[in-house]
Amino acid sequence: MNNSELLNIAKDFGSPLYVYDAEKIESQYKRLTNAFNNVKHLKINYAVKALSNISILKFFNALGSGIDTVSIQEVQLGLAAGFLAEQIIFTPNGVSLDEIEEAAELGVQINIDNLSILEQFGTKHPNVPVCIRINPHVMAGGNSNISVGHIDSKFGISIHQIPHLLRIVENTNMTINGIHMHTGSDILDIEVFLYASEILFDTAKQFKNLDFIDFGSGFKVPYKLGDIETNIEELGKKLSARFNAFCKEYGKELTLAFEPGKFLVSESGCFLTKVNVVKQTTSTVFAQVDSGFNHLIRPMLYGSHHDIVNISNPSGRERFYTVVGYICETDTFGNNRRINEINEGDTLCFKNAGAYCFSMASNYNSRYRPAEVLWYNKTAHLIRKRETFNDILQNQIAIDFSLKKEKC
Ligand SMILES: *Cc1c(COP(=O)(O)O)cnc(C)c1O
Repeated sequence: MNNSELLNIAKDFGSPLYVYDAEKIESQYKRLTNAFNNVKHLKINYAVKALSNISILKFFNALGSGIDTVSIQEVQLGLAAGFLAEQIIFTPNGVSLDEIEEAAELGVQINIDNLSILEQFGTKHPNVPVCIRINPHVMAGGNSNISVGHIDSKFGISIHQIPHLLRIVENTNMTINGIHMHTGSDILDIEVFLYASEILFDTAKQFKNLDFIDFGSGFKVPYKLGDIETNIEELGKKLSARFNAFCKEYGKELTLAFEPGKFLVSESGCFLTKVNVVKQTTSTVFAQVDSGFNHLIRPMLYGSHHDIVNISNPSGRERFYTVVGYICETDTFGNNRRINEINEGDTLCFKNAGAYCFSMASNYNSRYRPAEVLWYNKTAHLIRKRETFNDILQNQIAIDFSLKKEKC
């Protein structure tokens, strides 16, 4: 999508607007599958929570992907998008036994991440094979907020609890058909990932009925110039060789699974906003856009960087701006950014807006959530209508207090 295509889309569908490039999603998917083409059985399960629009899910289905889900609603969404139950893995954290049973009933692959639920589930349903989520206690990223494999994490069953786990499996007579880890959101160092994988292989040896090993995700994509990106090709080469050797040792051709979200969709997305006001204070020039953390919360929640480009004036003189929203809270998207001169009415494009952007949007300040467009075959397809006032009022129940008054 070039600037003029994006400007036309913004003109046709209004602002603020999320736009996703199907071609980019496809090329990332192919990059990943190509990197592991030496593995006989490879399964990519797209992590729905990154971007959960049904048309995006249908596109992944068409590419041959499965999906990774974290709630029963995501499971239902996947089924509604046309995935078969066996193409869905359910990897929740801290949900009720009821919810896990509901998913199992639908026939999706269950992944259990604590011993309490494992024991209860195994006792009641010894014939339903389950995958177990292991915490290898390896810190994969630099930011402890998003590294979930280390010792204090709430995710997964500690490798130190494997003896207890094996006892549960033996006592309940349940079958463990998969073993899983998801070490965090930022794989900066392939060696750290491979180290965690060794722990997983070591654990896997203790289970005799495995069908697959799921290495989770955490693949990093660049958000700004100079960012480190996971070298998928190198990881593919090294992990594939190690995986194939493990299968030989294990005596079975297992499936190698991944469940990336960010890697597959982050770079496909642009968030288009319109500049309402350019406000010069004594020390700063603010560009205020028709959005806020109700639509894109990552910069405020995680301190994430999203490049911001003025697509209305791409060759304008560069100046420094602090880009903020219109929410009655501090909602700074970017501090002191060098951007081509901004005029009121210009359209700004936030890059890397595919993953964890729309899916985290809310109605805060009683604003509508943005519309979504998929750019596919050089055509813009509306895949989510902009909300209307009805959406704000829907499900609210207005009490009529005048009746109460009359009684008194
Ligand atoms: C969120 C999540 C993912 C996707 O992580 P990315 O960093 O977006 O690739 C994969 N697996 C599980 C279990 C998750 O919760």
